[in-house]
Amino acid sequence: MSLHTTIAVGGPAKFFAVPRSSREVVELVKLARGRDLDFIVIGKGSNLLVRDGGYRGMVIKIGHNLSRIKLNKQTIFAEAGASFSLLARKSLSHGRSGFEFALGIPGTVGGAVRMNAGAYGSEVSNVLVRLRVIDENSKVWVIKAREIEFGYRRIGLPHNAIVLSATFFCPPGEVNKEILAKSTQRKRTQPVSSKSFGCTFVNPPGAHAGRLIDACGLKGTRSGGAMISKKHANFILNVGENTKASDVEALIDLAKREVRKKFGVSLRPEVIIIGH
Ligand SMILES: Cc1cc2nc3c(=O)[nH]c(=O)nc-3n(C[C@H](O)[C@H](O)[C@H](O)COP(=O)(O)OP(=O)(O)OC[C@H]3O[C@@H](n4cnc5c(N)ncnc54)[C@H](O)[C@@H]3O)c2cc1C
Repeated sequence: MSLHTTIAVGGPAKFFAVPRSSREVVELVKLARGRDLDFIVIGKGSNLLVRDGGYRGMVIKIGHNLSRIKLNKQTIFAEAGASFSLLARKSLSHGRSGFEFALGIPGTVGGAVRMNAGAYGSEVSNVLVRLRVIDENSKVWVIKAREIEFGYRRIGLPHNAIVLSATFFCPPGEVNKEILAKSTQRKRTQPVSSKSFGCTFVNPPGAHAGRLIDACGLKGTRSGGAMISKKHANFILNVGENTKASDVEALIDLAKREVRKKFGVSLRPEVIIIGH
């Protein structure tokens, strides 16, 4: 899975499928259920850590084959495999507002919805209108955003629900220049061109995970080929040649341990960790 995650580590999947249509997604879910196989859907793998022993089920990767984007009068429709930042660029170039926050978020629409991705005070829940999903019984549903419970980097969807497409509110309007400037200047504060999965932990209430980790003196700490970024302590980077997922996980555990010891705060990972 190192080829399918932005941190570029991780063992193999037992089965790996790239559906060409929504119908094929439905068929794959039926196949997995029929064989009692675990399955997980992934997008760009930009918030994912797969352990070195790999994933013993079926990985369903939703990408280019399902990446149609359509601008409507007040909304923008996108299939799950569309790039979330491309959606932002498209909406901006058509004079739409609301998507400025998404410019620097590297995943797919499906991944962004599943993570309730956000930045600079805005997030998916602020712009989502409705979703088309498949549940684990292969039933396709349309769910309105107002029927969904959102939290910080969380969305209340049925277990194993797969996002097929989403419609976002994105009317013509003035661009929020402040958010736009922050989104386009990420390079100054984040190691965006290194191999990583973005922020490792969600920010605990009233605090910044990165600042807590920094205050423990952990910036630049290495484990094998993994390193806590010197630029932003909430980023773990793959800086080696043969970096293992266990190197990355060792730093996750270290940061959790040290922050709990020094501040009594339990850090919750934002990154999704799967595999054995
Ligand atoms: C440099 C960098 C900067 C980042 N900055 C931000 C940021 O500012 N804000 C932010 O919120 N995140 C940020 N991230 C994290 C990441 O980009 C987002 O969480 C992104 O939305 C994940 O999308 P993905 O397609 O890569 O999902 P993946 O990593 O492939 O999957 C993440 C989760 O979503 C699920 N999933 C994926 N696709 C679907 C689908 N179609 N249906 C249902 N579930 C699905 C997966 O099962 C998994 O649980 C950053 C990452 C990097 C590498």
